[in-house]
Amino acid sequence: MDLIGFIGLGKMGRPMAANLCRKGVRVIAFDVDAAPVRELVQLGATAAADVRAAAAGSDIIFTMLPDSAVVEQVIAGRDGVLASARQGSVIVDMSTIDPRVTDRLAAAAQAKGVGFVDAPVGRLASHAERGESLFMVGAADDAFARVKPLLESMGTTIHHCGGVGAGMRTKLVNNFLAIVSCQMNAEAIALSQRFGLSLEKTLDVIHGTTATNGQLKMAWPTKVLKGDVEPGFTIDLAHKDLSLIVEAANSERVPVPIASVAKEAYSAARAQGHGGKDFSAMVDILCNLAAIEAPRLQPSPS
Ligand code: NAD
Repeated sequence: MDLIGFIGLGKMGRPMAANLCRKGVRVIAFDVDAAPVRELVQLGATAAADVRAAAAGSDIIFTMLPDSAVVEQVIAGRDGVLASARQGSVIVDMSTIDPRVTDRLAAAAQAKGVGFVDAPVGRLASHAERGESLFMVGAADDAFARVKPLLESMGTTIHHCGGVGAGMRTKLVNNFLAIVSCQMNAEAIALSQRFGLSLEKTLDVIHGTTATNGQLKMAWPTKVLKGDVEPGFTIDLAHKDLSLIVEAANSERVPVPIASVAKEAYSAARAQGHGGKDFSAMVDILCNLAAIEAPRLQPSPS
């Protein structure tokens, strides 16, 4: 049975690796934070002392890390994955990063006889916990066939978007809509609060018209609208993704004025010290700015 290296056990990586362990996959795990590694060992994983140790004996190496700089350092740095990965092994990066970094890492991997797959993740941390993630995969056909069963152990929906880099580019398009929607929702819901409208009735109306969107329908009722702003997906990561989107679009000569404005709304939230909250908290931050009561659904009568 393949040995799976897993590096990065945060809000997404830990539950994903846990799902692999529960399905009987052999996992060797590493994170700079020892706490989630201990949790995985409880589920049968082996703890790796460092990145090299997680990569050296592994057939497939997953990375689920915060941003481009960390992914580049962990994969291509001096003591990184490529310094110890075996020929014929495959790296699967599930983080959301600059697709140009993905392209560079894939070329560096190929030069060492190591395969490379980008498989960024859609949906929320709660889906990752339940093994219901969605993957947008960029890979050659043979590498895709090899990693697909493992992705199916962590998710329910696997899209093969094209060659290496296509998954990451699809993810930027997806997150453009998801993260900008969150800011638009914040403005619309703040306005409805100021108007003194019923939150429940307003949502009822929105969900039945073309105004509906997944952030408001699926994510917010279980997060900010019930007072839970624990991440989930942080404002810091949303800001990172919008920065990637604006930069990638500009480098392709595509003007994205709405993404740029939304990015600065997230910048303002971070400047006020809210970067570690769930990105649905954008509505609380805006309401606070405008001295409007934070929107909260009434608990449903049980
Ligand atoms: P996180 O910050 O919770 O987790 C990142 C983990 O990486 C942490 O445990 C951290 O200790 C570890 N780490 C950092 N540097 C390291 C290093 N050098 N070596 C080993 N481990 C290191 O972030 P997350 O929410 O799990 O997100 C991870 C990635 O997935 C990001 O790129 C994010 O944009 C993307 N993503 C997140 C969500 C979400 O809902 N949280 C959804 C889809 C995609």
